[in-house]
Amino acid sequence: MSTTAATPARLPFPYRPEGEVVANALARVRGSLDWPAVVATAAPWVQAVRAQPAPFWAMESLLREYPISSAEGLALMRLAEALLRVPDAETAVALTADQLGRADFDGAAEDGPHKMLANLSASAIALSKRFLPDSVQPPGLLQRLGARTVVAATVRAIQLLGRQFVLGRSIQEAMDEAAGQRRAQAGLRFSYDMLGEGARTEEDAERYLASYAGAIAAIAGGRVAASPMASDGISIKLSALFSRYEDTQRDRVFATLLPRVWRLIEPAAQANINLTIDAEESDRLELSLDVLDALAARVAATFPGWQGLGLAVQAYQTRSLEVVDAVAAIARRHGLKFMVRLVKGAYWDGEVKRAQEGGLPGYPVFTHKHHTDIAYLACASALIGHADVIYPQFATHNAGTIAAIVQLARRAGAAFELQRLHGMGEGVYREVLRDPAIACRVYAPVGEHRDLLAYLVRRLLENGANSSFVHQLADEHVSAEQLLASPLQAAAAPALPLPVALYGATRPNAAGVDLACAAMRAPLQAAMAGVQIEPVAEAGRAEVEAAMQRLQAGFGPWNARPVAERAALLLRAADLLEARLPDYCALLVKEAHKTLGDCVAEVREAVDFCRYYAEQAVARLEPQTLPGPTGESNTLRLHGRGVFVCISPWNFPLAIFAGQVVAALVAGNTVAAKPAEQTPVVARRFVALLHEAGVPADAVAWLHGAGETVGAALVAHPATAGVCFTGSTPVARLINRTLAAKDGPIVPLIAETGGLNAMVVDSTALPEQVVDAVVQSAFRSAGQRCSALRLLCVHEAVADGVIAMLRGALAELNVGDPADLATDVGPVIDDEAYAGIQRHVQRLRAEARLLGETAVASAFPRLVAPAAFEIGRIAELQTEIFGPVLHVVRWGGDVLDVVRQINALGYGLTLGVQTRIDSRALRIADAARIGNVYVNRNMIGAVVGVQPFGGEGLSGTGPKAGGPHYLYRFCAEQTLTINTAAAGGNAELLAAMGSAGTAGV
Ligand SMILES: Cc1cc2nc3c(=O)[nH]c(=O)nc-3n(C[C@H](O)[C@H](O)[C@H](O)COP(=O)(O)OP(=O)(O)OC[C@H]3O[C@@H](n4cnc5c(N)ncnc54)[C@H](O)[C@@H]3O)c2cc1C
Repeated sequence: MSTTAATPARLPFPYRPEGEVVANALARVRGSLDWPAVVATAAPWVQAVRAQPAPFWAMESLLREYPISSAEGLALMRLAEALLRVPDAETAVALTADQLGRADFDGAAEDGPHKMLANLSASAIALSKRFLPDSVQPPGLLQRLGARTVVAATVRAIQLLGRQFVLGRSIQEAMDEAAGQRRAQAGLRFSYDMLGEGARTEEDAERYLASYAGAIAAIAGGRVAASPMASDGISIKLSALFSRYEDTQRDRVFATLLPRVWRLIEPAAQANINLTIDAEESDRLELSLDVLDALAARVAATFPGWQGLGLAVQAYQTRSLEVVDAVAAIARRHGLKFMVRLVKGAYWDGEVKRAQEGGLPGYPVFTHKHHTDIAYLACASALIGHADVIYPQFATHNAGTIAAIVQLARRAGAAFELQRLHGMGEGVYREVLRDPAIACRVYAPVGEHRDLLAYLVRRLLENGANSSFVHQLADEHVSAEQLLASPLQAAAAPALPLPVALYGATRPNAAGVDLACAAMRAPLQAAMAGVQIEPVAEAGRAEVEAAMQRLQAGFGPWNARPVAERAALLLRAADLLEARLPDYCALLVKEAHKTLGDCVAEVREAVDFCRYYAEQAVARLEPQTLPGPTGESNTLRLHGRGVFVCISPWNFPLAIFAGQVVAALVAGNTVAAKPAEQTPVVARRFVALLHEAGVPADAVAWLHGAGETVGAALVAHPATAGVCFTGSTPVARLINRTLAAKDGPIVPLIAETGGLNAMVVDSTALPEQVVDAVVQSAFRSAGQRCSALRLLCVHEAVADGVIAMLRGALAELNVGDPADLATDVGPVIDDEAYAGIQRHVQRLRAEARLLGETAVASAFPRLVAPAAFEIGRIAELQTEIFGPVLHVVRWGGDVLDVVRQINALGYGLTLGVQTRIDSRALRIADAARIGNVYVNRNMIGAVVGVQPFGGEGLSGTGPKAGGPHYLYRFCAEQTLTINTAAAGGNAELLAAMGSAGTAGV
């Protein structure tokens, strides 16, 4: 079992109301800061910088014209992110044409504040665009030559852009450059950062480790520095040193990552230089403190005199003040002194998205920019207060923040340093550092072009965002007063709606769980401890018959209830289910052997189904008045069909079961619900919950049993008015035939079946993103999702690299007991499934090339090792293997050919596309006969009402579950036409004409 369960939290709940947290931060700074004095200090800096603007070629000048909030700025950023890694000229031309071609650079220039520059760059871009091909006309020779020249120039421009933020390609080059800068500005210190982030494999991690170690050796240069404060140091990212630096992988973090960090700490401590651990995403915050604590214990034992160990703290976290106190507490406990770099935080947009997707109770970061500024100052004050154990390092480019910090620190008489990023804030710091008493360190990225792209994009975002200080400083429309306005005033409400309000005021987003948060994890773990799955008896023939009679009798009264009343019962069920999420998760873990993360997602999906169909029913199933001639009223009315049979699978035993049942119910049907044989218990619990919510006993019946007996009897029953089925294509065919063979009314079949789902990857895609998406799509839930990726089609130019990374990522997966939080891949559902998958794998071992597989150490039953095999052709894939087995093919030539081959497989459920060429992604989607297409992300986890789910061809009949057309298929329709003039005349018409004053005699 992972240590995650046992670790108590050091920090408070991350999702406390923003107002409360900001009030607390404000209380820490109010009274200790003289803001008019801050303005008096900073205003001359601002004026001086503005008097000497950046040269026209500087990136800030470019971003001033094309901020990333504009289509043009976005196009430039996306080009910068992708172009340098594209291996062939043809694709590079396509990418450049795609991005430059879609934005209107000519138009953007007209209103810009710096017309000349704007016109220059716009004309250059517009001219370049003329050489780039469009999709309508084939390029001529001149254009082809021109296109290559444009692309070569663009590549060069992006390299130059990148160079602005990178001190050198190697540590030696960077140190030489630093020496040059120090000649101009004595006393400047540097913290080198070896570019590249997020190891996906052990090889990546070892490479980064070696590069950090080499850099430390170079920085130390065989000497022992006088003090870590006065000398250059290094910044490291823990995610670069271990691919699984995640809260759920604590045991491995301590076993694998810690020794690696120690291999860097030892030489850094021996050389007496600063080693700072960068701050990353908020779900690693607690973990990062635990890592620091463990490292500190070892430092105290081995290098008790070293004061160079450091950590970056992000002020935008709602827990930032407590982080500062926790770091100080760790230092005190071990008798050490740390260097702490205070930053505002670089991953704000990602944090917001994660909270929204996860339905979390709030945001882990502030939503108002100036709240981050307040927290920054409060943290600064707290750091200064811990001067006995912390040497504070304030990293910011914001002139107001800098002036405030200098004021706070000087009043307290505390030692400190300021920090800036290489390539940013140079103007402001030129002014600030006129004061020789102020120390400054430059964060200096080192690396080759390919490694800097992710870093470059973060810097572009930062420099181009409207809210950013550097951006506003460059914008003369923003006055110095506005720029330096006091942040010390809390906003009344968050700037973003909370994640619960993602879908507007009428439909709450289902509440989720942050599994990295101990307080939210605990109820799930407690619930799991109390759950046992008892065997349940199958329904016999007589019970099926009795249930059908009861449901038939119940149909009339249920169907007669107003839609709003039925919808209200669904909403009540949703609330009950949401409140009992831990119990249902525990049931799912024990009965369906799903991992906890999957279980949370599944319960949320079921809650969303209840709320979505309730909302849709009210919006769509109420009577509609239709147009017609005068003297007549026409109304379209929808009502239930009768008894609907719902047959659901074991892979989503709650979400799919619930979705089918509540859709049928809210449309006015009564429901005979048959869960999969393997997973009756969670389904029974859900039906009990529906009854508790007020759905009558004779409106829905739970009937457990085998498909061949109970399922077959239900489908063949004369009272069955419709069937909703999710499962395999062969069973859907069987049901279809049974229904066709029946006498009596012809009833609808809604079938959602499997897929041979593919992902198409071209050479512009980011391999790390591809591998993340592949691992999640192919192996999560042990590949037991209809949407799961079965066939990866990767462009031949990048295939070797992607495959190598995939192999490394496969090696890092944890296969084991689904109740353990550390488990990525649990068992397959039953022995039959296990045997079938193993047979297929055996065949692949003989016929295909094994690319990689996960070693399985656990003895938990029915574990299948996730594996990837290379096959020769797309057409070789014929049947859906419902397990963690991925097939890989390479492709070249026309990507639409690949899509045609995928279409020819006959299935049409999900498709993944990985490309930076937006027009290509759209062309692929247009050509694909596939229900759900996902671009540049994973292809699983469709969200109700957001990605309505379901396919075509062999993948099902439609309509899509969780979509706006679903409920109609459960309804019968009636029009009601009333001759309102039947009593002898059209009184209404006459009255209307009379009132209009035009009636004749
Ligand atoms: C030396 C150095 C080292 C760094 N190391 C790290 C690191 O380890 N980890 C890391 O994450 N970042 C790191 N950064 C990046 C840093 O987070 C950003 O550079 C910094 O946030 C920019 O702040 P500013 O004071 O210069 O600019 P400002 O323009 O004053 O602040 C911009 C910041 O405000 C915050 N913000 C923007 N919009 C909102 C909003 N709507 N609501 C709430 N907050 C908002 C964001 O944090 C944004 O970055 C480092 C920066 C420097 C200078």
